[in-house]
Amino acid sequence: MNDTKTLNQAALQRARDRLVDALQAKGVTNPLVLEALRAVPRHLFVEDALQYRAYEDSALPIGQAQTISQPYIVGVMTQALFSSTRPMNSVLEIGTGCGYQTAVLAELAKRVCTVERIRSLQQPSEQRLRSLGYRNIEYRHGDGFVGWRERGPFDGIMVTAAASEIPKMLVDQLDIGGRMVLPLGEDGGHQQLCLLRKTGNGTVEENLLPVRFVPLLRGVEA
Ligand code: SAH
Repeated sequence: MNDTKTLNQAALQRARDRLVDALQAKGVTNPLVLEALRAVPRHLFVEDALQYRAYEDSALPIGQAQTISQPYIVGVMTQALFSSTRPMNSVLEIGTGCGYQTAVLAELAKRVCTVERIRSLQQPSEQRLRSLGYRNIEYRHGDGFVGWRERGPFDGIMVTAAASEIPKMLVDQLDIGGRMVLPLGEDGGHQQLCLLRKTGNGTVEENLLPVRFVPLLRGVEA
């Protein structure tokens, strides 16, 4: 029995390695980000029936009309956040979802604060990340539009749902010299992944690539 389990683990690691190699070929080249993607068992973040698809480079449903992001997009967003020489001691994530991106961030940052508005996603994801052994994550059920002021300012902020405009309160909670990565645009419409840098006299924004994310919504849900 143990042998089967070991075999499966080896096969899963191979599938994950192949996926990471494919992401590298597509332009995710930061070695630390690749290492983090190799370390996080994505199949444990989706329901059993979808596990066999966990190492395809695609978004998958996670319930409550939400999705686990496509691995390539997770790679691009993470790389954009960590591509400066500035140490990323504290990172804020808006939209915990299933917690996969949270785990990737927790592999790289000293401390991750993650906010999710739907409690029925937030609670199981918190349990999952705790049982995987992550000790550097703080969790909050709340509306990410307001961020997490008490924990700020952050070196980096990652938003994993699309807003039509840059949420101002999040910019306020970003440290000077910090970076924010977020999808911008209408639900179902044209969206761009945006990299924002905060300087001493304002912000500088850069569009990275077209994306498709679920919308950033206001308020909380059970
Ligand atoms: N990083 C996640 C992506 C999940 S999809 C993953 O890979 O699984 C986006 C998530 O953002 C959803 O879970 C959605 O409920 C959440 N979300 C949307 N608006 C939000 C808000 N205002 N505050 C916090 N979370 C929000």
